Amino acid sequence: MAAELLDGKAIAQDIRERLRERVEDLARHGAQPGLGVVLVGEDPASTSYVNAKERACDELGIKSVDHRLPESTSEAELLAIVEELNQDETVHGILVQLPLPDHISADRVTMAIDPDKDVDGFHPVNLGRLLRGQECFWPCTPHGVLEILRAGGVTTEGKHAVIVGRSNIVGKPLATMLMQKSETGNATVTVCHTRTPNIAEHTRQADIVIAAAGKPATVTGEMLKPGAVAIDVGVNRVEDATKKKGYRLVGDIDFDSAREVASMITPVPGGVGPLTITMLLANTVLSAERRRERAGR
Ligand code: NAP
Repeated sequence: MAAELLDGKAIAQDIRERLRERVEDLARHGAQPGLGVVLVGEDPASTSYVNAKERACDELGIKSVDHRLPESTSEAELLAIVEELNQDETVHGILVQLPLPDHISADRVTMAIDPDKDVDGFHPVNLGRLLRGQECFWPCTPHGVLEILRAGGVTTEGKHAVIVGRSNIVGKPLATMLMQKSETGNATVTVCHTRTPNIAEHTRQADIVIAAAGKPATVTGEMLKPGAVAIDVGVNRVEDATKKKGYRLVGDIDFDSAREVASMITPVPGGVGPLTITMLLANTVLSAERRRERAGR
């Protein structure tokens, strides 16, 4: 029997409805969440991500403070804008869209963001807090994966989760979250990468497989245990002459073969992607709520 589809769009919509109530509650107390959005250059993929994020903010009643800067912007100019957003009381979250041009250090820019406004969860302070199980902002894509599992009724406690990919924004934080002593954690986690000799040996033992490698068909149906849950973080463009744009999007999991073996699977597009933006909105709302609590209002 083909796997049940975990519909990221519908799950994201549900979460956004609940966020809307929290935004309305903040409004009743005279507060509006604000997200500072910074885009350097005109990369089409980055521009479309930023547009989607601002549209989503608008729909929920989150104010976005937009900075679209030319490719030639210097690192010092960008750092000055980040500092301005750090100081801006109406801004609760700061998003600097990556990748940045080569002449700007993404590390230095990430480090310049006030950790209390780091709604992407990339700042070392937040990652350190995450590792220690302390209050922090969870990085959006791994957080989205946990929300998909929760919505699908997939518990993680005692399960074996295998993650393919060890990046700082997906694989590593996700491994930390899944092994956390918490309701959405308590899994036994294996992390595979390009130096793992036989990935299938690991994925075949997994109750939950999460692919975040950035390569199509890194995980296929024959690499899965029957009944496993398959979560596909990957987004890859593959040439397709039948499409108007000349390409289509596929994940890192070979959908057709995996669907025959797994019990549940996320599609690409329409799986993890919609959750990533939603969790950014969630972190921005959370940040505004924390500010209100700190102010004692
Ligand atoms: P990344 O920084 O390029 O990291 C990829 C990781 O996968 C690396 O750890 C790499 O191993 C590992 N890897 C690559 N090829 C592999 C293979 N054949 N077998 C085993 N491991 C392999 O990528 P990322 O930023 O984590 O993103 C991963 C994918 O998720 C990309 O397709 C990206 O577009 C997508 N993504 C989607 C969302 C979303 O919202 N849906 C958000 C973020 C990312 P090494 O460390 O050994 O090099």
